[in-house]
Amino acid sequence: TPVRAGQHITVAGLGVSGISAARALAGLGAEVTVVDGGDGPAHRERAEALRAEHIRVRLGDGVTLPPGTSLVVTSPGWKPSSPLFAAAAAAGVDVVGDVEIAWRLRGSSAGASPGPRGPEAGGSAAPWLAVTGTNGKTTTVRMLASILSAAGLRTTAVGNIGTPLIDVVLEDKAAREARSTEGGGGRPEAVPYDVLAVELSSYQLHWAPSLRAHSGAVLNLAPDHLDWHGSMEAYAADKGRIYQGNQVACVYNAADKATEDLVREADVEEGCRAIGFTLSTPAPSQLGVVDGILVDRAFVPDRHKQAQELAEVSDIQPPAPHNIANALAAAALARAYGVPATAVRDGLRAFRPDAHRMQHVADVAGVAYVDDSKATNTHAAEASLAAYGSIVWVAGGLAKGATFDELVAKSASRLRGVVLIGADRALIREALARHAPEVPVVDLDRTDTGAMAAVVREAARLASPGDTVLLAPACASMDMFTNYNVRGDVFAEAVRDLSAKGA
Ligand code: ADP
Repeated sequence: TPVRAGQHITVAGLGVSGISAARALAGLGAEVTVVDGGDGPAHRERAEALRAEHIRVRLGDGVTLPPGTSLVVTSPGWKPSSPLFAAAAAAGVDVVGDVEIAWRLRGSSAGASPGPRGPEAGGSAAPWLAVTGTNGKTTTVRMLASILSAAGLRTTAVGNIGTPLIDVVLEDKAAREARSTEGGGGRPEAVPYDVLAVELSSYQLHWAPSLRAHSGAVLNLAPDHLDWHGSMEAYAADKGRIYQGNQVACVYNAADKATEDLVREADVEEGCRAIGFTLSTPAPSQLGVVDGILVDRAFVPDRHKQAQELAEVSDIQPPAPHNIANALAAAALARAYGVPATAVRDGLRAFRPDAHRMQHVADVAGVAYVDDSKATNTHAAEASLAAYGSIVWVAGGLAKGATFDELVAKSASRLRGVVLIGADRALIREALARHAPEVPVVDLDRTDTGAMAAVVREAARLASPGDTVLLAPACASMDMFTNYNVRGDVFAEAVRDLSAKGA
């Protein structure tokens, strides 16, 4: 059992995942204390709600390890170097994340089923098809969920997205138990999941030592969050954990050798295969693209056939190269689970991208305005800038330890102008001076939310008809905004204002 009744568990962080973990663990009979350094009105309100459920909460500076703690459950924002974890290590107390708790709650029985099959009464828990990578995770798990649904499977996109994983695992477990106790005539709403499409961040993987997915994919590896992980090696090692114990397929990006190296280093179940995806003609055991058609050369049941056609590139929204890669990764995981080709096609056709991901906002005076606020690191911004011709680039925010030389050097020829905002904008300004000295740069020297109106005004001034004004900041948003959603919304609002003024 993952939790003993009366066990003292400390949950670090009073955010969405911390609250979900605290409730789940308290529900299993543990004595839970949530600790958080914050002490604002929002924190107090959440604390109040938990205390009403007999969960202890300690707010404010100087977070310490409550005496008697035998397990610490972390939240994503907490760095491994946090003093709380040092205290836990010194006391010989395990530190794990919400994904580890979810995995343990799920039960250790049969990690995977070899292919699609109906959920059985009291049968083993839904296997996980897991996705990580620097960029494209959310898009890929949503494409995957769409494909699995098109195959008639009950599934959901979960993890570092939407509903906390613990909640979904408990819901699945309860549904299985309801079925086995009440037989076929049980509560009709208690339907277990067949399979889960799980997005995992490097943070979550770091703290999930016993996770063993049915199949896993690392989409790409580029420097990001290095301030959290300490080094590129540590970041890659955390991402690589997604392959540990995989049962059917380790999916890697054939154009990104680092992902293939992680497969080679992984300790997997016997018979688990390495499956690559590529934007060009696939080798055997790969998925790829031939003449605008997505082709599978890895999971071809008919011995007389070399390849199985899955879908057309035009079935994918938007059909930008990085997004075709995401679709191939999703298809590889679905095929590893045994999904037929027609469901891959139907699932990709039904998929619609989320907001703030290369979202077209408006055309004003012949200039297209695009919100890719989700491009929160240089690798994402590079994919974004590569998808357009002549660009006025809106960039800046929190750099998270990144450097901008490579991004600017690769994109310089497409830049008509640049507008900079945010705390770390000087890093981008300096890279522009080195690699694109002729490109006009407006440094707004502002970090307030109200700056976006001025950003759009300046961008409009720099742009000519046929250009694209692209918000792809290559930085996190938290210096100016609550999150990237708000940053994108504020940008879109400023564009609509501009449009209304008929500028
Ligand atoms: P994540 O969940 O990993 O942050 P998203 O699917 O939300 O990824 O996409 C984030 C951003 O990364 C998008 O706005 C897009 O600019 C970029 N992006 C998406 N997929 C890829 C990819 N495969 N390679 C590079 N950049 C990508």
